[in-house]
Amino acid sequence: MTPRDYLMHVGGAPMAASGGRTLDSVDPATGEVWARIPDATAQDVDTAVAAARAAFRDPAWAGLTATARGRLLNRVADLVDANADSLARTETRDNGKLLREMKAQALALGRWYRFFGGLADKVDGTVPPMDFPTIMGYTVREPVGVVAAIAPWNSPLLLATWKLAPALAAGNTVVAKPSEYTSASLVELVELFVEAGFPPGVVNVVTGTGAGAGAALTSHPDIDHIAFTGGPESAKAIGRAAADSLTPTTFELGGKSANVVFADADLDAAEAGVLAGIFAASGQTCIAGSRLLVQRDIADAFVARIAARAETIRLGDPTAEDTQMGPAATPPQLERIVGMVEDAVAAGATVATGGRRPDEERLAAGLFYPPTVLTGLRPDDHIAQNEVFGPVLSVLTFEDEAEAVEIANGTRYSLAAGIWTRDVKRAHRVARALDAGTVWVNTYRAVSPLMPFGGSGLSGHGRESGIEAMNAYTKTKSVWIEL
Ligand code: NAD
Repeated sequence: MTPRDYLMHVGGAPMAASGGRTLDSVDPATGEVWARIPDATAQDVDTAVAAARAAFRDPAWAGLTATARGRLLNRVADLVDANADSLARTETRDNGKLLREMKAQALALGRWYRFFGGLADKVDGTVPPMDFPTIMGYTVREPVGVVAAIAPWNSPLLLATWKLAPALAAGNTVVAKPSEYTSASLVELVELFVEAGFPPGVVNVVTGTGAGAGAALTSHPDIDHIAFTGGPESAKAIGRAAADSLTPTTFELGGKSANVVFADADLDAAEAGVLAGIFAASGQTCIAGSRLLVQRDIADAFVARIAARAETIRLGDPTAEDTQMGPAATPPQLERIVGMVEDAVAAGATVATGGRRPDEERLAAGLFYPPTVLTGLRPDDHIAQNEVFGPVLSVLTFEDEAEAVEIANGTRYSLAAGIWTRDVKRAHRVARALDAGTVWVNTYRAVSPLMPFGGSGLSGHGRESGIEAMNAYTKTKSVWIEL
């Protein structure tokens, strides 16, 4: 098969990398190179930022009312709905996640474009009762300018959308950079922005590596906000680069989320929630419930149920209807999973199920790793403290509520947590005590444009989704008038 060539989108037109360098896009289920994407240079990034800056000032965009911006975003939502199937196929091709999951995600994108489209003309200012008798004061919320939006490979369109929708609703322009492993879908998405009627230069996409195009973008002095989703190490490099120009950042990083199961829980529901929490998307989600905290009385029986169900999960072609788990997305990702599990076992962990690559012939060409459950761990073990970003569940046990909270809060991540109990008072108490940006009670994994999302510590800072998301993309101006 001849790989398909993708181009970037800059200033309203397709653009190759200067010098013509490309990167291969590999299908992780087959190892096949299916597409090539431009490997942008610093000069290309500069061109994209200049295009975004020019569009920010251009009356074609700057002169639109907030209501008109909202209408454009609603049009994008309709176009995304109509193209969800092909967008999902492109994503699955690139990251190996189940096609039905990527379809569900593609169909969900419209909810964010509609929510922020509706919000565009509702972000208003205030008229404070002034403490000077002859002064009238009011505030207005204005766009910050040019936004750099950087997305990872696990949910390329959803995580780019979480940035694009609020940034555009507020009147900014954007230079987006997808992961070098999964660039094709964002290029396809941007074509829908063109079709919806966005003026040239309002939405730009540059492709390339983190160290190349990514670093050029985040260290660019003419960027007004950096919205980044990815790993903590990249975030540190971006934070250092951003410090030079004092560019504000929003960081959505990793997690080591605890799914806390009390003995009084509906154990069937808890079982389903724990399994989906860690094994959906092969564990490659920032909110993966990668630590199972289970009350000691029920631990052996509950872990046996989880391990037995994990063993029945069918690995395979992510586009096949009967497949329940796809491959890891990239070779370094697979290496990381294999290495972390081997180290955990060498340090004394017990493998309840999984723990080594499958030897089935049909899976040989792909980056497959089975659902894995590790027991015999202590809360401070390396694997119980650090993100694997793979289908590996670390089991820890606790005696009572206080110990559960102490273990759950005992990592440097604070992204998400789950609580499974039938006791409503306990649910509220523990939700209050957990240090996490999102707490799910008797459910796990749902996200919505209406609910703010984000973490603290190694999980980052700032919030995406919800009305709060507009804070990062607007700045307040105070106007004083002598009467
Ligand atoms: P990554 O940090 O390697 O890459 C993310 C993006 O940043 C890519 O586009 C990459 O090219 C770019 N990048 C890397 N270094 C850069 C630099 N120095 N300057 C500018 N850009 C740079 O992460 P990944 O491997 O693609 O994704 C996995 C990570 O993302 C995990 O840690 C996961 O938890 C996290 N994640 C977080 C969320 C969330 O919302 N909190 C969601 C999904 C994934």
